[in-house]
Order: sequence, then structure tokens, then C-alpha cells
Amino acid sequence: MGFKMKVLLVTGGAGFIGSNFIKYFLETQKDFTVVNYDKLTYAGNLDNLREVENNPRYVFVKGDICDTDKVSWVLNNFKPDYIINFAAESHVDRSIDEPLVFGRTNVIGTLNLLQCAHSFWQKNNCENKRFLQVSTDEVYGSIENDTDYFTESSDLLPSSPYSATKAGADLLVRAFSITYGMPAIITRCCNNYGPYQHKEKFIPKCISHALSGKPIPIYGDGLSIREWIHVSDHCAAITKALFYGTPGEIYNIGSGEEISNIDMARMILGILGKPQDAVIKVSERPGHDRRYALNSSKANSELKWSCNYKLSDGIAKTVLWYKENQSWWDN
Ligand code: NAD
Repeated sequence: MGFKMKVLLVTGGAGFIGSNFIKYFLETQKDFTVVNYDKLTYAGNLDNLREVENNPRYVFVKGDICDTDKVSWVLNNFKPDYIINFAAESHVDRSIDEPLVFGRTNVIGTLNLLQCAHSFWQKNNCENKRFLQVSTDEVYGSIENDTDYFTESSDLLPSSPYSATKAGADLLVRAFSITYGMPAIITRCCNNYGPYQHKEKFIPKCISHALSGKPIPIYGDGLSIREWIHVSDHCAAITKALFYGTPGEIYNIGSGEEISNIDMARMILGILGKPQDAVIKVSERPGHDRRYALNSSKANSELKWSCNYKLSDGIAKTVLWYKENQSWWDN
């Protein structure tokens, strides 16, 4: 009996979550080839993928998701059964300084990818195909109390240019699903932590500052609350959504583990045996959301997914990784 390899196209696979995902997926899905299409911006780093670069089931193509000719070429050449869009400008602080860059990649890039995928699958049969958009809890905006949770039907009320462009992309995915019957799924995940995250982000910044004896900068009063998930739990959720999710649906992916920014900084200082007061308060970020918290019961019940990591264990493991891999993040 002939055995046909299936093909997954991943965009933005040289970044933090995408590179963790590719390694996880190649390891767990032996009947798949993975094509990684990435522009290699400052956030993309092929060193993240050293352990799979010689894997015969892995292919890298350098390219921009806004480039119609190149995306069409990749689709026609590799004929993916599944597409997961991780590619994005992802740092909120940068989006305040250069929102247009975020609009281009996150909105126009997603639209271009959707249009190319629609036209490719229309010609080549879209039965059993999937387009998965990797989105964020930040599209829902801020919760100003300690008790509410966002569900998949909560309003989209983004506060930053980053979250507004991610919300725009989600609406385009929804429109393609309704208008063209595109078999698309959206996952909205809380804040991720784990190995290979760029040091501009909060947890790597806390670790790198603590390791080099510099105070950790904290916005405002430090009491903003975030829900944190280990990247490998996010990768498992995306895989389940891809295979078992219903086209047209949205799935919140959260851990239920909430902590204020100041307490997260103190946890990391504690793990490293540094003084708890090694933080410095800096002026509040414009548009800083107070609290994010997801109701993830739909993913728990419909995808039969739940988190493996406890926050304290995951953070301890991540701190150790950054300690042992200083050459990666110091570069
Ligand atoms: P990242 O910044 O680490 O990686 C982004 C990757 O996309 C990089 O490899 C970059 O080179 C690539 N890229 C950027 N612009 C591109 C373009 N125009 N064409 C092709 N490739 C391009 O981001 P991340 O933290 O890994 O996030 C991945 C996805 O997950 C994003 O869509 C983000 O919105 C979403 N997300 C992130 C988090 C989080 O906590 N990091 C939480 C929820 C959702």
C-alpha cells in the first residue's frame, strides 16, 4: 500500500512559538513534512531550529507572507494540506513606535495568505484542509476586575496597535470562512513563556536582567495581571485544534494561571537567589491592559486538551534554560 506524506505549511516558524511548534510537530507527527516559510525579521532565528535542519521532513523557505507571488509559489510547489499562520510582528512596545509595520504583516500578510490559500485550495480541492490562525487573548482588550473571563464570544476591544492588527486578522479569517467556506480555525492563547523567546519580551527580560545583576523594569504599579502558559502546552493545543477543531470555530487557549507582573519578577528573582527588591518601576505603557484571563472550557471539552505545566515548574525550567543558553540570547 502506498503511503502519502501530508504537508503542513507553517509561517513564522523561525520565531519563538513557531520554532517550538515545528520541533514538537515533527516529533509527534511522523507522517508529516513541515515547510517553514519565514521572512527572518529581527525576531526570526534559524538557530532555534538547528536540531531539525537536517531532518528530511523539514524544509525552510525564506519569504514574506505579504508577497503574493512567493506565497503562491510555495503553495503550488509543496501543496500543503494544512496551513498554520504564526507569522506576525509580535511585540506590543514596538507596535506603539511603528504601527504601520504591524498593519502590513499582521493584517495585509494574513489577508494575502488567506487569498492565496483560498485560490490554491479552490483549484486543488479543499476537502479536509485546514487554515489555522494563531491569535491572542489581547484581541479582547482589558478586564478591569478580578472576576471576569473572556469567552470566544466576548467582544473584540483591542487596546494596542499590536492587538488591533491581530483582531483585524481574526476578522478576515472569519470573513473567509463565512464568505468562501474556507476551513479556517482561530486559536486565541494567553501569554507564552519557554525556551527561545526573544529577550525583548517580559520573562526573558526579567531573567536576563536578574542574571546580569541589573534591576528588572516594571511598568506602572506592576499590578497588571497576565495569564501564562508554557509554550509546549500551546503547541499541543494548536495541534489538537488543527486535527479536531471544527472549521469556523474559535478556541481560547489558557492555563488558568494568573499572576501580576511584579510577582512574576519576584518569582524569577527568587529562583535565581537574587534580592526581591531588584526591580525598578518605569512609567506606565500607553494603553497597558490591566488583566487578561481566558475561559478555555471549550478547548478543554471539545479538543480534549489541558495544560501539563504548573506555572512554578515551567518558570523554574525556563530560568534554567536561559541560564544554560546565554550565548543564544546574548547574541
Ligand atoms: P515572534 O516575534 O517570536 O516570531 C514571529 C516570526 O514571524 C519570526 O520568525 C519572524 O521572522 C516572522 N515574520 C514576521 N513578519 C513576517 C512576514 N511578513 N512574513 C513571514 N514571516 C514573518 O512571535 P511569537 O511570540 O513566536 O508569536 C507567534 C504568533 O503567536 C504570533 O502570531 C503572535 O501574535 C501569536 N501569539 C503570541 C503569544 C506570545 O505570548 N508570544 C501569545 C498568543 C499569540
